[in-house]
Amino acid sequence: MYSIDAQLLNKVLEILEKYPLCDRCLGRLFASLGRGWDNSERGKALKMVALMELHRRVKEGIENVDKLRIVSMHCGSIAEKLLRELKYLQDIDLIPCYICKSTIDELIERYTNLAIEKLKELKVEKFLIGVKPPKYIAKTERELAESMGIQYWESVRSEFKRVIGKKVQEITGLRVDFENPEVIIVLDMENDEISVIIPSILIRGRYWKIGRRISQSKWIKKNGTKKYPLSLEEVLELALPLTKAERAIIHAAGREDVDVRMLGSGRPTIFEYYKPLKRDINLEELERIVNSNPWVKVSFEAIARREHVKSYKTMAARGFKIYRALILVENDVSEEELEILEKKFHNAIIHQWTPKRVLHRRKNVLRTKLVHEIKVRKITSHIIETLIKCEGGLYVRELISGDDGRTSPSFTSILNKPAKCIELDVIYVHEIL
Ligand SMILES: [Zn+2]
Repeated sequence: MYSIDAQLLNKVLEILEKYPLCDRCLGRLFASLGRGWDNSERGKALKMVALMELHRRVKEGIENVDKLRIVSMHCGSIAEKLLRELKYLQDIDLIPCYICKSTIDELIERYTNLAIEKLKELKVEKFLIGVKPPKYIAKTERELAESMGIQYWESVRSEFKRVIGKKVQEITGLRVDFENPEVIIVLDMENDEISVIIPSILIRGRYWKIGRRISQSKWIKKNGTKKYPLSLEEVLELALPLTKAERAIIHAAGREDVDVRMLGSGRPTIFEYYKPLKRDINLEELERIVNSNPWVKVSFEAIARREHVKSYKTMAARGFKIYRALILVENDVSEEELEILEKKFHNAIIHQWTPKRVLHRRKNVLRTKLVHEIKVRKITSHIIETLIKCEGGLYVRELISGDDGRTSPSFTSILNKPAKCIELDVIYVHEIL
């Protein structure tokens, strides 16, 4: 007769012979084939073609009529007339869908209405739908797709999100926004609960600390007073009235000690405004408000995504830094000694036990860090200025002092006279994503 490569059709027939499926659940198994159709349309079309093909095979004596009867039963109401012609009169609507127990369209209807009610209360314009589907549906469809070797399926979770989002959008005129929604409506179908998440505003940028005694987060002592006069967090909070957020959170590529300035490149950071009620913000205006203080400066470069936070927080350990240190040496230092210092710290491996000053809160471990290079300049007979390029995570004060032999080699050990860092600045943080 005719010959086509009927792999898809045979797969659909194989599935329908085994399992009764509603249009939507069958369509979802082949969701990534074809574009612009709802899965229920996709499923209905597959059923029609499958039934036509099987009907042809029966008419031509290739296939047994019993198989057509079973497949028709599994197709549901769409095969009603065909079944009647095959003299097979049973109530075909009695067989529920193997995957969703024929509940899926009701679930869509019910949760669409719940989401609309919730959105009306919230008075927002841009939303996103999150879904926790009923476990039995998610589990059954995955097992079926895997056992039948289907590679084109879409999860029921993704279908719920898309279909409900679209329906809510059509009915209310509100807009689904994947990038920057005002609220995420989470539909927990397993527990029949609905909750609302207000996503944070995340901003990629950097900060500079021009003064000393400035901490990254607010540091409140037990008696309720501040340990340091200013923090980066407080400076960011200057913009709370603009965002109507609850608070500001910092996800920085490492941190410097409170008495260390952050100059030069600034420190790559993701700034988070938590639970903002207003998100149509102008980054330049936000930046201007934050920078109205004299001691901490920020630049807000672009809106970031949650997945960027992790790479920013681990960046400091992966990249290098450059420090500027002012060092007091107990006895006079000569130019020759400074030359030796530069040579010894060229690609030098430093062995460093946890410094004494942080032992009360950190485990005592031996770390190995690389000093790429240093540049030294004599200021007075006792004071030298140094630029140190090193791996992230190296304790620089101890690299200078030696920490009573706990860091080796050190400026003290190479010069063979006590050296001490009296002023420290970070001037470059390597941005490595
Ligand atoms: Zn179904």
